Formats: sequence, C-alpha cells, structure tokens
Amino acid sequence: MKARLSKEKPDLKAFTLEELESFIRALGQPRYRAAQIYSWIHKGVKEFEQMTDLPRELRELLANQARIGKMEISEVRVSRDGTRKYLLALEDGNAIEAVSMEHRYGWTACISTQIGCRMGCRFCASTIGGIVRDLTAGEMLEQVLVMQGDLGRRVSNIVLMGSGEPLENYDETMKFLEIVNHPRGINVGMRRITLSTCGIAPAIRDLADRRLQITLAVSLHAPNDELRDRIVPVNRRYPLRTLLDACRYYTETTGRRVTFEYALIEGLNDSLELARELGRVLRDMLCHVNLIPVNPVDDRPYRPPTRERVHAFQNILQERGIPVTIRRSLGGGIDAACGQLRRRHLR
Ligand code: SAH
Repeated sequence: MKARLSKEKPDLKAFTLEELESFIRALGQPRYRAAQIYSWIHKGVKEFEQMTDLPRELRELLANQARIGKMEISEVRVSRDGTRKYLLALEDGNAIEAVSMEHRYGWTACISTQIGCRMGCRFCASTIGGIVRDLTAGEMLEQVLVMQGDLGRRVSNIVLMGSGEPLENYDETMKFLEIVNHPRGINVGMRRITLSTCGIAPAIRDLADRRLQITLAVSLHAPNDELRDRIVPVNRRYPLRTLLDACRYYTETTGRRVTFEYALIEGLNDSLELARELGRVLRDMLCHVNLIPVNPVDDRPYRPPTRERVHAFQNILQERGIPVTIRRSLGGGIDAACGQLRRRHLR
C-alpha cells in the first residue's frame, strides 16, 4: 500500500471498505467500526472528531494513525445553465478541475483522474503542460464529495471525463469505481458511471473482463488511421482496428453498447465524406455516437463547424442506422473545455 510506505499517515478516503477493515483490525479494533467510519467519510465528514458514534479513544487513535484527504475550492464558475466548474486545490499544492452539471435525472459530476495528461490529443487543453501525476482513488472521491457539499445535493451520475486518461491510471480508477459503488458509500450505480478513454486497447479488454456495468465512452474523433494518428496520437500505438476489436470485445463480454465521442473540428474531421466513412467503420457495432462541436482552446486553431454542418454530419450517420446525438453544450462562457480553467490559473 503506497500510502503506508510513505511517512505520511494513510488517507482513509482512498480505502475500500475491505482495506479499511484490515486497517481497523490492525489497530486492534473490532471490524464493524470500519463500516461506521466508512459511512462518515462518504457523508463528507472531514475530522475523526465528528464521528460521534465512535468512542473518544478510538477517535484519538485514528487522528494519530490516519488522516482524511481534503481538497479546497479555489474558485467556482457558474454558467447560466447552472453548470458549475470548480478549480480545486490539492494538499500538495497542485490544482485540478471538476464540473457539476444538472440534468433532468439529477446532478452529474465530471471528475479528473490525473493532474494534466500525457496523451497529447491536439485540441485538448488538459494535455498542454503534460502530466504532473496520477490522482489517487481518494482524490477522485473527494472531487465528488466537495461538489456534493457545495451543491447541498447528492450526485446521481459520474463521468470520468475531466483531465487525464483513466485507463492510464487503471488501478486507482478501478478502486474508485468500487468505492463509489459501495452501498455504504455514496452508492452510485455502475450504470450511472461513464468512463471515457482515448483508446488504450489492452486496458479496454481488461476492463471488459471485470464485467462492470459502466458505460464505456471512446474518444474516436476520426474514422481512419491517417487522420486519427494526427488528432489522437495514442492511435499510433493502438490503431483503429485494434481499438475497435477491443470495443467489440467489450460489448460481447458486458452486453453494453459503447459510446463513440467525435469532436467535430471545422475543416479537419467534419467533411461529409468522413461522416460516410465513419458510418462504414461502425456499421456492425452495437454503439452510439456522440458528436461534440469542439470547444475552442486558447492559442489553438481549432474551431467548431457551423450548426448546419453538424446536423448534416449527424444525418448521414442516422441514415445508416447509427444512433447519434449532439452533445448539449453546457457551461458556455466559463472555460468549461477540459483543462482551461487550470491553465489560466497556472499562468
Ligand atoms: N482521456 C479521456 C477522458 C478525458 S477527455 C479521453 O480522451 O476520453 C473527455 C472527452 O473530452 C474526450 O472525448 C476528449 O476528446 C474531449 N475533449 C477534450 N478537449 C475538448 C475540446 N476542446 N472540445 C471538445 N471535446 C474535447
């Protein structure tokens, strides 16, 4: 366990219930205390002192032996549609972003899985400064808890679509899924969680083997290797065929359809010929396409196509029987495009 090897006290927020149970037993305490502590942590309580159903001596022992990881809100930007974008300060001085969005069915939390990113997708702001480090499962959970605290509402859905590549931080991400899905924790159903990846094919296969019921979203952005190599550099390692085979395996193994994200960029990947090619490539797949007019990033030349072009692109896929939606653009005017608020802060 990484946290215990360091001189620091372990962050109990990063523990699954099982890990917390062994920690509590190692302190010579009865196992059921772990469930009580777990519930408190997931209610957002930040001090052992506030865990009023624990004996005083245990609260003191915990304060000496462990900690509860925290983040502070440095800035919140609220857009007209109610979307809230947070700049969060981590204990080590780093900053990350998280977003909450209101939908008909409740609040969705969009969280980061790494500080920065090393995938290098051309139009993405998160990748501009490279990667700083992975986030821990506790830091992923804390983003959700901080937003719940700020909203005074429970989050019903979670999307791993903030900064970072979740499948590059595989173990912590899997642990996070187990923690948030736990009935004694915040208990968000697997079907209400979406994991978005730029396409680490072997990790998609591993994920499939876990047979979780999460939605897998794959950032496709191009229907052929020549173009995808240029937009999403990881394609050079895992070309389209390898990626799509992994996606088919995901569907066969889990029974879940895959979502393909396609950021439309004017003059680069938005031609109707490419729409037809995309239709051919996805013809035999159980999938759904989400078109995202690109969110312009400072100092980058990428612009969204006109609304007419977006609809024409959508129609071509629809005519070919592929379910396709255009992402409702939330958070306009608040630097909600991935990584932009943090960048502004770094300058
Ligand atoms: N690394 C993962 C998850 C984070 S990015 C992935 O690549 O999927 C989440 C989604 O936002 C991806 O589809 C990504 O391509 C998209 N995205 C990043 N920057 C964007 C921008 N400026 N405009 C529109 N979509 C963007």
